[in-house]
Amino acid sequence: TNRTFTMLKPDSVEKGYIGAILEKINAAGFRIVAMKMTQMTVANAEEFYAVHNERPFFGELVEYMTRGPIIAAILEKENAVEDFRALIGATNPADAAEGTIRKLYAASMGENAVHGSDSDENAAIEAAYHFSGREQF
Ligand code: ATP
Repeated sequence: TNRTFTMLKPDSVEKGYIGAILEKINAAGFRIVAMKMTQMTVANAEEFYAVHNERPFFGELVEYMTRGPIIAAILEKENAVEDFRALIGATNPADAAEGTIRKLYAASMGENAVHGSDSDENAAIEAAYHFSGREQF
């Protein structure tokens, strides 16, 4: 087993999709190791998405990710990172496969409902950024 980190982004919370998305995550066999509602500050989002800081959409991305609360969670499953990326679907919901979370719940590339870590290394970094050891079960 291993772990991935996810955020249900502000659009998912605003639209009332928390329950539906968690249902999909549960049905796909992920165990919830940690979870909370929190709001990223501008500094948090700039740090979290630092890899994109030269991209034209960076300002829009930071504004989006900080405009309201998110659900942050750590998920456990065999092959967690890859299987969760498959469950959420392509970054652009227009390209996301049928039945994926982004196909079902995301509006656009800029408001794409969920985050999933892209490597085991980043999953560990992102999980530690949001949760202390005592918050992980
Ligand atoms: P995430 O890291 O959120 O799981 P991802 O790994 O599928 O998404 P990245 O390429 O890392 O995609 O981009 C990070 C986030 O930046 C995307 O989820 C999306 O919200 C935003 N983003 C990426 N490309 C664009 C774009 N061309 N226009 C607007 N927003 C974008």
